[in-house]
Amino acid sequence: MMNNIESLFDIAIEKIKESERIYIVSHVQPDGDNIGSILALWIAIKKIKDKVFILKTDDIPSDFLFLPNVNEIKEFNDEGKIDMFIALDTSDENRLGKNKELLNKAKTIINIDHHISNTNFGHINIVDSNAAATGELVYNLIKKMNIPMDKDIASCIYTAISSDTGSFMYDNTSAETHRIIAELIDIGIDKSNININLYQNKSLERTMLFIKSLETLRLYFNNNVALIKVTQDMLNKANAKMEDTEGIVSFIREIAPVEVGIILKEFKENEIKVSMRSKRFIDVSAICASFNGGGHIRAAGCTINSPMDIAEKLILDELKKVF
Ligand code: 5GP
Ligand code: MN
Repeated sequence: MMNNIESLFDIAIEKIKESERIYIVSHVQPDGDNIGSILALWIAIKKIKDKVFILKTDDIPSDFLFLPNVNEIKEFNDEGKIDMFIALDTSDENRLGKNKELLNKAKTIINIDHHISNTNFGHINIVDSNAAATGELVYNLIKKMNIPMDKDIASCIYTAISSDTGSFMYDNTSAETHRIIAELIDIGIDKSNININLYQNKSLERTMLFIKSLETLRLYFNNNVALIKVTQDMLNKANAKMEDTEGIVSFIREIAPVEVGIILKEFKENEIKVSMRSKRFIDVSAICASFNGGGHIRAAGCTINSPMDIAEKLILDELKKVF
């Protein structure tokens, strides 16, 4: 960790200690890093503070419902002032969705994240793009607060880090990542149970959607780009939800010649959410940034407000510039 991050942690800890009502906020379409980080920090702060709450921004995907205290993620009910607002794994204000407007009500905003594109929207911004997951930063924060790392906290941190590293496979996984994971295992997490819940628990509906979406697979630019589509019609036929697309885009990146895997998800007729994954050399966050999105070099996303076929053309036109 860099020294200025160390001192930002100290400032954040001071502020946490002196704040009365603390709200930890999830982001839109929350992933394992977001949910794991939020729950870990909530469990930790709850040990020293009474009034700490977790704000729900979107529904929690079923994959994460096994996590301890997941029912603490609740809608905001305006029952008091917001002394502190903590955003985790949230690259910009818009990722806070309907809870974005609460930023104005908060006395102190702490923004802890690992996206290089983070907009530093907090009063205290702890942004470290070298961290494989926000879960690593939360782990360091809890350690620095001298709060004992129990099995529940450790399970949430493990979920966060495993989610963002592709189960410790992606090249963001560092020696430090493995050192943290070793400690979580020493604490006694049931990693087999966590892994089964995260990765070996697919519903039949999700499996059918997986098969149907692979039927839409198209390869472009000498097989360097693989693209699949999921429409509302496909979801209805498979009796699945959009969250059931999780894992499909990483799967198509696994095809040998493919450098970039893309999934186009039709949330509404004119609202296509794009997820991109790259393997070796393409910076997909830069491509998504041209559509006002962002993310990481090897995993990024954006939303295009056009029908599916136009969105597909726009994305392919952008990719043509790099292939
Ligand atoms: P996913 O494709 O799984 O939704 O997201 C992959 C990564 O890209 C995540 O780190 C996520 O934060 C980021 N990301 C996805 N969609 C958007 C978006 O619309 N805007 C920004 N700034 N980042 C996004
Ligand atoms: Mn993350």
